[in-house]
Amino acid sequence: MSSDSLPKMQKAVRWHPPSYDVRVEEIPVPKLEHPDDAIVKVKYTAICGSDLHVYRGHGGPTQVHTIGHEFIGEVISLGESFGKSVEGRPPLYATLTVGNKVVAPFTANCGECHVCRLGYTGRCPSGVLFGCDALDGGQAQYVRVPKAGGTLFNLDDPNSWISALSSDERISVLKTLADTSLLLLADILPTGVFAATQAVNHPKVLPMVTGVPWPYSFAPEAVDTSSHNLLQPSDKVLTFAVVGLGPVGVCATISLLDILATRQLPFNVVAIDPTESRRSKMQAIYDGIDKSGKGTGQFSVSSIEGAKDIVDTWTAGIGCSAILEVVGNNSALTLAYDLVRPFGAIVSVGVHGEPQVPFEGRQLYNKNVSLDFGRCPARAMFPPAFDLLVKRQDVFGHVGEETSLIHKVVGFDEAVQAYDDFDKGRCGKVIFDPWK
Ligand SMILES: [Zn+2]
Ligand SMILES: [Zn+2]
Repeated sequence: MSSDSLPKMQKAVRWHPPSYDVRVEEIPVPKLEHPDDAIVKVKYTAICGSDLHVYRGHGGPTQVHTIGHEFIGEVISLGESFGKSVEGRPPLYATLTVGNKVVAPFTANCGECHVCRLGYTGRCPSGVLFGCDALDGGQAQYVRVPKAGGTLFNLDDPNSWISALSSDERISVLKTLADTSLLLLADILPTGVFAATQAVNHPKVLPMVTGVPWPYSFAPEAVDTSSHNLLQPSDKVLTFAVVGLGPVGVCATISLLDILATRQLPFNVVAIDPTESRRSKMQAIYDGIDKSGKGTGQFSVSSIEGAKDIVDTWTAGIGCSAILEVVGNNSALTLAYDLVRPFGAIVSVGVHGEPQVPFEGRQLYNKNVSLDFGRCPARAMFPPAFDLLVKRQDVFGHVGEETSLIHKVVGFDEAVQAYDDFDKGRCGKVIFDPWK
């Protein structure tokens, strides 16, 4: 279909300032504006915890816009840059065609600058977030994708990304994955994997992973440590807390357990949320996964009040090796600071809207705490997230079951109610079918 034959109008979920006001409206179907653009017809789109920051009026946007940054769909129109192989440009410009099934990471990025090549795609200098003042988002029937050759993943061409699975495995597994499941690759699963990856691989955590003390933990093979006292087995038990068990917190927890199990590292993990329904969902999901996905370490789900005692018991009062903070507010950060050990790391992937963090420099100095903040480079994290999605279909593959992450699929007619419910913690991950 070319742009000429597209419908003129479409339905979209629009955010209105200042807060708590989303409306389903008829707006024009987007057009190609740049040769690198693609227009995607959306099959599914979802509400995300970070949409709540916008919804509540502290996410930054001030203009009416189409909200949302998670979508999967079909390419229906491509700009003039496509269909040509140009040296140095992302290969998708040569290979993507109209009709391909695609998923978009939640930020568009060029894929051809220094920052993108390093894998820090979420901060590409010419990147832009879907669903902000500058770019309409994914909760619509059609979306314009800028820098589409650097941004999109072509699900019809699974050899176009790195994977631990063989080419044949990828091709056959993609025939079995539901689109509602693949949609999780737009944000929440890559973001969960990002939080877990940063925590386990943090330089401050490395002595426990390598068994070699700081500073030789950076390159243990470079020195002969054989005649020196190295870490005792009990020193190597990693202790993590996940703060916040919304959908991204669940993804982070599942990813963390998978990494620890795969690498056969000894560990304790406490998953914390003040909301009872979120705690019981996390526990049900944990109970449902097999040993290969959760290893042999201790796992506990806790309220905020109970978490400190659990960590103190596990670590003899020392604290957590690292914290995964998946909320994005100051009370979550304060809890993270309280639970982390000296020389620990706080990995924060929640969107922070408050003007100041709740620590003094003195507090950070006194505990030698590392703060690892910010947005997931979702395009770079897509490949490991895809592998985890395939492995953990028991969690990510189904809708509405006790052990599934996705709560329900509804039409845009339920969008206003869904925002209110998600905001008040009355539902889990909600997916929209914009054509329902
Ligand atoms: Zn999201
Ligand atoms: Zn870039």
